[in-house]
Amino acid sequence: MLTSDHHAIREAVRDFVKSEVEPIADRLDNEGAEIPHELVRKMAELGYFGLIFSPDYGGSGLDCLSMAIVTEELSRGWLSVGSVMTRMLITGTLIEANGTAEQKREWLPRLCSGEVLAAAAFTEPQAGSDAAAVRTRAQKNGNRYLVTGEKAWCTFANRANVLCTLVRTDPSQPKHKGLSILLVPKPGDAFDPPRLSGDPIPTIGYKGMNSYNVAFDNYEVPAENLLGLEEGKGFYQLMATYEYARIQTAARAVGVAQAALDAAIRYAQEREQFGQPIAKFQVIRHKLAHALTEIEAARQLTYHACMMKDTGKRCDLEAGMAKAFAAEMAERVTSECLQIFGGYGYSREFPAQRYWRDARVFRIFEGTSEIQYEVIARRMLDRGE
Ligand SMILES: Cc1cc2nc3c(=O)[nH]c(=O)nc-3n(C[C@H](O)[C@H](O)[C@H](O)COP(=O)(O)OP(=O)(O)OC[C@H]3O[C@@H](n4cnc5c(N)ncnc54)[C@H](O)[C@@H]3O)c2cc1C
Repeated sequence: MLTSDHHAIREAVRDFVKSEVEPIADRLDNEGAEIPHELVRKMAELGYFGLIFSPDYGGSGLDCLSMAIVTEELSRGWLSVGSVMTRMLITGTLIEANGTAEQKREWLPRLCSGEVLAAAAFTEPQAGSDAAAVRTRAQKNGNRYLVTGEKAWCTFANRANVLCTLVRTDPSQPKHKGLSILLVPKPGDAFDPPRLSGDPIPTIGYKGMNSYNVAFDNYEVPAENLLGLEEGKGFYQLMATYEYARIQTAARAVGVAQAALDAAIRYAQEREQFGQPIAKFQVIRHKLAHALTEIEAARQLTYHACMMKDTGKRCDLEAGMAKAFAAEMAERVTSECLQIFGGYGYSREFPAQRYWRDARVFRIFEGTSEIQYEVIARRMLDRGE
């Protein structure tokens, strides 16, 4: 149930998006330009990076539902804008749940304030869905680790001050047992070649953020940056953050689909063919009605997962269902909304194509749809439903 506070949060973010994001999103996407630093700074000032973290560490102490609402509205303006906070959410959640008292004091306030921007470096060229196949090696040498290996698809790596990195600390242990999470500092806005280098991967959408292949070559990291100061826990620590991350991704998908529908409704009421607005043709009206229905279904699944989370219940099943459904919904809805624009849907002069290109990524990142359905199936069959 949304409270008046939730509605007020939605209105405030909507105003921010209208004044700060909508006027620039299409132009920057067409130019392939990244989100301006100034916009990231404003989001940080508004507290968007610390929403769910404890006020003891500079967060707002809000519930998961508030986080989903903020995410949805930011993504409605531009997926990339709704995705900056994802990195602070993942890194902060990992630290809040697993960090030592000193690590929480050291990192959380700076993540919440945006002084430290984070990126998540889990995927490798040979280790995507199979995260336990990570090879990047972190070898302890006195009071530091030397990190060597390659990461793939590390989004925002160029802008981040810390890479939250899944590494192999014990190669003698099988797969997930020898993994740990290291908080790898780096200069913001740059890499540190030749020990730390990054190459952007050209993509079809999600243009406001670049994803990088990152190479570590004996890159030095203080040993005190090992999450929880305990080796061998990284895989389990990471799995436990997936509920938040998947809920946030479902909310991103709802936001992008809603933006596509908003634009399609406006166009269908203005565009005339055969002497009347195309919104009067039943087939177009039904496309819009279908889109609205699907978006609301995905939103309610997302809110349901939030409420489970907010009442302290395990919600990997609900988060997985919300993420899988919202991802597929966003692809269908943005495609049908593009169709309503006819030829103009294919033109860079209208945003319909941006929503469609951006929406395609939801079935891939934060766990592919195929992996989500495996998670859902496992839980469903385990509890005998
Ligand atoms: C734009 C973008 C941004 C990203 N940002 C980040 C980031 O910031 N940090 C990060 O660490 N990663 C990031 N990723 C990586 C993303 O999480 C991976 O792409 C994803 O986990 C899938 O891994 P993969 O690409 O290696 O595909 P693979 O795992 O190789 O999968 C290939 C195909 O096989 C299927 N498949 C694999 N295993 C199974 C199975 N057991 N059962 C059934 N089907 C299976 C998959 O569903 C998929 O269809 C990003 C990806 C993209 C595209």
